[in-house]
Amino acid sequence: PPAPALFRFDNSYARLPDRFYARLHPTPVQHPRLIKLNRSLAEALGIDLARVDDATAAAIFSGNRIPPGAEPIAMAYAGHQFGHLVPQLGDGRAILLGEVIGADHKRWDLHLKGSGQTPFSRRGDGRAALGPVMREYLISDAMHALGIPTTRSLAIVASGEPVYRETVLPGAILTRVAASHIRIGTFQYFALRDDTEGLKLLADYAIERHYPEIKAASNPYSALLERVLEAQAMLVARWMQIGFIHGVMNTDNMTISGETIDYGPCAFIDSYDPDKVFSSIDTYGRYAFGNQPRIAQWNLARLAECLLPLLHDQQDQALALAQALIGRYPDRYAWHWLDGMRRKLGLFTAQDQDQALISALLALMHRHQADYTNTFRALCDKVEKPAAQGLLPDTPDFTDWLAQWQARLAQEAIDPAQRADAMRQVNPAYIPRNHRVEQALQAAIEQQDFSRFEVLLEVLSRPYDEQPQWREYRLPPKPEECVQRTFC
Ligand code: AMP
Ligand code: MG
Ligand code: MG
Repeated sequence: PPAPALFRFDNSYARLPDRFYARLHPTPVQHPRLIKLNRSLAEALGIDLARVDDATAAAIFSGNRIPPGAEPIAMAYAGHQFGHLVPQLGDGRAILLGEVIGADHKRWDLHLKGSGQTPFSRRGDGRAALGPVMREYLISDAMHALGIPTTRSLAIVASGEPVYRETVLPGAILTRVAASHIRIGTFQYFALRDDTEGLKLLADYAIERHYPEIKAASNPYSALLERVLEAQAMLVARWMQIGFIHGVMNTDNMTISGETIDYGPCAFIDSYDPDKVFSSIDTYGRYAFGNQPRIAQWNLARLAECLLPLLHDQQDQALALAQALIGRYPDRYAWHWLDGMRRKLGLFTAQDQDQALISALLALMHRHQADYTNTFRALCDKVEKPAAQGLLPDTPDFTDWLAQWQARLAQEAIDPAQRADAMRQVNPAYIPRNHRVEQALQAAIEQQDFSRFEVLLEVLSRPYDEQPQWREYRLPPKPEECVQRTFC
């Protein structure tokens, strides 16, 4: 009998009407070479790796060979880019190969990024450079290990072709795996065209795929808005707790599933600073670290506007409903944020003054330019060894704060070892520090040396564990190592 297909495809999005996408194949590349394959993710997707040698993987994950069952499409979407509405964006350099049913029976989008021009390319070349592709692979893998909802990276293939940016760079293709690629911008695409039928099809599809439990709700579309709002409030709270700056929170880069998507000029803060911006394209700091929660609400309000025709037959009632739902976001965000921050400080119960205690710590970290990650990790040690100073600021204001915190801890009868252990499960020792990421990419691009990339992936695969052999990966950058700007 013939061997079973390598991928169990079932392409539900390609069964939606033609106006949802353009059907086309990736543009083949000259010399595809496999750089990286995420073997554990491949197994989770039910791919029989024994049948995938490097040449096969390079052919498939470059887009040169279309596997049986794939139905490649470029998805249509719109979006607000830095606050400006663009009625048509779409997959300009990416193609959805199809949806794979994984070993877990879940449905996963298999998506090639950098796969050539599409009808949505506008003036772009449809390609991606190796550096940004490696960055997306690294950071998405790290985010997954940190326990933050995210798209995943399955493979990197070098194209063997140059891409032309400010300089000539090596090209590459990333295979991205996602719960779906439906974005707020996908809803905007249909709303902007007054295509209520398309909008309803999309909403019903999103509900079926991500929130099937709300199908029977009295108003499934308000329930959808509620679910997305909740997922995004939780997601952005997680970003803030880990010190992650997305960098391009345009409405086309916010998913309906609640996964982090589109790693471009993203970064992690070293010292705590709510105004921090790394992205070279974020001139006005719209997407600064501390702005992310507000921006998420702004984006969700754009989703709510799209859903108005589905929320209620009467316009004023629909608007009132949308406003009421969006109005709940600040509380939902605050709840997730406070819940997570309490865990970071080892608090097992909730008290009214906790918010003030946390805010005071952040203000001190800001004032002393304390390293965000290392400060929280040092507090874990402090629980077990109250005399240990570690990397904590040795200043009177900080000593005062420590005393307040320790008094608060004393109100809960928790064994210090148990508390420190719980804290270490939410306060990572290892994050993808910008300078380490840059060093790894630079060695790969300039010397074809991928060893730093591999080591970094390994270190970041266990972010919450003490890994004494990798101690130097915990250090903040030396002044000359500091990354000032990130590029996409
Ligand atoms: P992003 O800022 O990555 O969210 O991308 C915004 C839009 O620009 C999307 O529609 C992308 O598909 C498109 N885009 C980005 N880079 C390219 C490129 N090199 N060629 C064609 N389209 C691109
Ligand atoms: Mg994007
Ligand atoms: Mg991008």
